Amino acid sequence: MSLCFPFDPVERAEKVERLVLKDGKRLYYRFRAAPYYGGIATADAIGCSFLCAYCWNYFRNLNPARFNKFYSAQEVAENLLKIARKRSFHLFRITGSEPLLGETSLEHLRGVLKIIFQENPHSVFILETNGFFLGCRKDLIKKLIFKNLWIRISLKGVDEESFELISGARREFFRYPLVALKELEKEGMKAWPAVMRDLFTDEEISRLEKVLEEYGISARLEEEILKEYPFVIENMKKRKVRI
Ligand code: SF4
Repeated sequence: MSLCFPFDPVERAEKVERLVLKDGKRLYYRFRAAPYYGGIATADAIGCSFLCAYCWNYFRNLNPARFNKFYSAQEVAENLLKIARKRSFHLFRITGSEPLLGETSLEHLRGVLKIIFQENPHSVFILETNGFFLGCRKDLIKKLIFKNLWIRISLKGVDEESFELISGARREFFRYPLVALKELEKEGMKAWPAVMRDLFTDEEISRLEKVLEEYGISARLEEEILKEYPFVIENMKKRKVRI
């Protein structure tokens, strides 16, 4: 898939969604029990509207067309439930990708959520997203109202410049994840921002907290820790992102 930085994430999301969703099934490459959040049943999917310099799934997200294992919502939910039963987990997530690229991926995700909550009503699903789609399509936020859906929005920068450098997407799209957070709070949904702490100074983090305040976002900012895989450091050097 050809890509010039910075790119239009709307166009990229559309192209990627066409590659990673077929007949309501989505590309996944692994299902596993992960240690995060104290133990969580995890599905690793492929395909993102961004291409972050620090993405641990960079090469799969760069070129999703190399993969061909598509799973229906039913198959994804069954695989996750099997892991959760075996490990006595009550937490679920999809990671390594952006779960929300467009309306087709939203419907696939809703299918997974409906089955998991039907089978396991007290479980929690943590939606890890870059927040871009929900910020663009506020009208669809209501489709994600599930009692135990928690939404964690990973912000890629503290301002337009750092957002463009890190996410690869054009700077004018910086505000969309913030809009998503504001709207989710308005709907009374559990949602919070996260940011890769290692990439920013204390002053930059304070600036971001100020921006969140200006948007009327009250949730606390979670600080992510960079996984320094050699290829991540290499990509960050190439993209001129400093740690
Ligand atoms: S938003 Fe997440 S999945 Fe997408 S490229 Fe960035 S780090 Fe990877």
